[in-house]
Amino acid sequence: VFLKSISIQGFKSFADKVKLELGQGLSVVVGPNGSGKSNVADAVRWVLGEQSAKNLRGGKMEDVIFAGSTVRRPVGMAEVSLTFDNSTGIFPLDFQEVTITRRVYRDGEGQFFINRAPCRLKDIHELFMDTGAGKEGFSIIGQGRVEEILNLKSEERRTLIEEASGITKYRMRKREALKRLDETEHNLERLEDIIHEIE
Ligand code: ATP
Repeated sequence: VFLKSISIQGFKSFADKVKLELGQGLSVVVGPNGSGKSNVADAVRWVLGEQSAKNLRGGKMEDVIFAGSTVRRPVGMAEVSLTFDNSTGIFPLDFQEVTITRRVYRDGEGQFFINRAPCRLKDIHELFMDTGAGKEGFSIIGQGRVEEILNLKSEERRTLIEEASGITKYRMRKREALKRLDETEHNLERLEDIIHEIE
């Protein structure tokens, strides 16, 4: 998945609209302590559907809205958009680019959008399921998580890599197919019993 740009407005320390254009390959965000580097990672996690304010280092969801500074008044809304390249069709949508957006207002009301059309959080989750870019995916590794990942049991690490590489979907489908097969075999047995009785 190629993330082309991140737009942030009114989110945490970003009062004004900021657009980060990312190139292919590696991008590095540098800055002094407290300048907002982690807030960029929080913004990405948030737009991907993070529902826990604690994971975003806040008390409640509205805490992500810019709270004002000595020189700026607070704002009423936070909005973050991620634009992904879709030229390879990794997302099942008929667009060259896919932009997902999340907004939250001071009263706690939130909205999600896919290419500017309102959608549910569930739609965002489904869009990212198995692309490896979801909020639980391998793509955002917070401070402290590196050690956590290294300390995982080998099976747990495998699950993480499977999700990132996109085979979880097939594993789930296989499980569903096996279940249906099992049910069908069961029905067949019952039918044979009935035929036996009639004969
Ligand atoms: P470090 O290198 O220390 O981890 P960092 O560059 O990652 O620093 P962040 O933690 O991303 O910094 O940014 C912290 C800054 O964001 C603090 O100055 C804090 O006041 C500001 N901040 C966080 N939430 C809000 C908010 N809702 N409104 C205004 N400013 C906020």
